[in-house]
Amino acid sequence: MMRSSLIGKIEKARRYAQEPGRVTLSSLTANFHGENADHRVSYADGQWSCTCAFFGQWETCSHVMALQEMYRAELPTEALESFPEDIETGLKTGDH
Ligand SMILES: [Zn+2]
Repeated sequence: MMRSSLIGKIEKARRYAQEPGRVTLSSLTANFHGENADHRVSYADGQWSCTCAFFGQWETCSHVMALQEMYRAELPTEALESFPEDIETGLKTGDH
């Protein structure tokens, strides 16, 4: 590649990097360093998973919620459906 065209790509990349709306993560895998232990969290094919015991029972957990918050701009809408706001609403409705 000509050096001048590579420079053009670098400039374009810098511009893209300032526009987070351009990127939507289709899958995500992370090693999460929790307070008590490390957990493996992933998002793929529209489903979250986490190796912690809480997730096994509730299908969400603090690790998934943290990643939803951290990558809110980059995750597709369906990946944010179980975000805490919805869960809190659900809990309040369930109380009464
Ligand atoms: Zn977890």
